[in-house]
Amino acid sequence: PQATRGLLRQRSIRAVVEPPVLPFEKDAEHLSQWRPESWRQLKAYQQPNYRDEKKLRDAVETITRMPPLVFAGECRNLQSRLAKCAAGEAFLLQGGDCAESFSQFSANRIRDSFRVMLQMAVVAMFGGGVPVVKIGRMAGQFAKPRSADLETIDGMELPSYRGDIINGAEFTESARVPDPQRLVQAYNQSASTLNLLRGFSTGGYAGLQRVMQWNLEFMGKSDEGQAYMDLAKRVEEAIQFMEACGLENDTPMMTETEFYVSHECLLLDYEQALTREDSTTGLWYDCSGHFLWCGERTRQLDAAHVEFMRGIANPIGVKVSDKMDASQLVSLIAALNPENTPGRLAVIIRMGAGKLRENMPRLVEAVESAGQTVTWVCDPMHGNTESVAGYKTRRYERIRQEVEAFFDVHEQLGTVPGGLHLEMTGDDVTECLGGGSSILEADLNSRYHTHCDPRLNAEQALEMAFYVASRLRQ
Ligand code: PEP
Ligand code: MN
Repeated sequence: PQATRGLLRQRSIRAVVEPPVLPFEKDAEHLSQWRPESWRQLKAYQQPNYRDEKKLRDAVETITRMPPLVFAGECRNLQSRLAKCAAGEAFLLQGGDCAESFSQFSANRIRDSFRVMLQMAVVAMFGGGVPVVKIGRMAGQFAKPRSADLETIDGMELPSYRGDIINGAEFTESARVPDPQRLVQAYNQSASTLNLLRGFSTGGYAGLQRVMQWNLEFMGKSDEGQAYMDLAKRVEEAIQFMEACGLENDTPMMTETEFYVSHECLLLDYEQALTREDSTTGLWYDCSGHFLWCGERTRQLDAAHVEFMRGIANPIGVKVSDKMDASQLVSLIAALNPENTPGRLAVIIRMGAGKLRENMPRLVEAVESAGQTVTWVCDPMHGNTESVAGYKTRRYERIRQEVEAFFDVHEQLGTVPGGLHLEMTGDDVTECLGGGSSILEADLNSRYHTHCDPRLNAEQALEMAFYVASRLRQ
């Protein structure tokens, strides 16, 4: 019996390392009562007060008739990639604008953000030696949670800007009225963004042979641009070697890339309208994006967003600050991923450089001892926001320190750092301070373009990728 127990124990340890894949169960009991509209029974935080119910109904109906933006099979593929990130066999890179906007919509901007993400992925793959899963905060990242319902400027008080899918950023009474027609415009912009991204991903642009050509013009002379070109040269040599060994240069592995899209699951009228039943599995997918996350302000266990998200079969995430306590997190994970499916749930930690070392370990330990499998992701942006010279900004050094702390804590606990979630752009903006490009306080006003939070510019983002590669290699 002793020997048998030993064997069993060995088996069960193996099961923890290589979990059986049972991801897509149709008849799970917890879902039997769920409907895309069941969230309406519960308190929904951070929703706009639409004045015209009829206009809202019309807009929602229009979107309900529109085709899905993403497909169930793609979401399932992403989920299996994310399971690899949870197990340390891949690394997630998720990045893009804090908020997409209608006025800054342009093909070149999408291309440049996509291109920096490809560069970052090459740096992390070649330098860190693991596959990189790429997800944009794109094609739907329009709705913003706000700390205050009202904003006051020079004694004038107006409703807060909640993202272009809801109202306008301009500080006027008419711009701040929530307009349901914006849902339709956001859907249309997401559709054309995705169309372009799909073209870039599979139409030859993202082929690994082009790795040298992805450098952005303005980065050529910077240290990061130079470091990237050096690395790209080595990648090219490696490819030549592999081709000499017989690797076909027209295989999809060499000519295409997988790129997924994500946004915060915030505006529930929009998300419900795009939630469709998958004909092959009978499961409900929110077809507005491959991956959706629940924000720090809307993750209450007994409220609408968690109710909605538990029923969709997409891979999902939840943002977690230092305010979260351990048993609350374990309950939240149990509600969102009751089958404990690897890759289903990412916990996105955003505590701030100073708070992470103190507060993350108890969360990771609690989740570990509950036997829950999640993908641990670091968002080093949202806990490090400060106001400098009238601008909302973040210091590169603080951002890097939070990433460093995230890797350190996982190393100490023997757990897996699964990914990085950034607010970034391919543009040459001056929104975050410091980094190799040395953005100074006096530079903030020169190219501060964000509609919401400050983003890393292309150089700063690439610098971060080199740092991550150095940590993945260890
Ligand atoms: C965001 O990702 O832009 C955001 C608002 O994050 P959080 O919910 O973590 O504050
Ligand atoms: Mn943000």
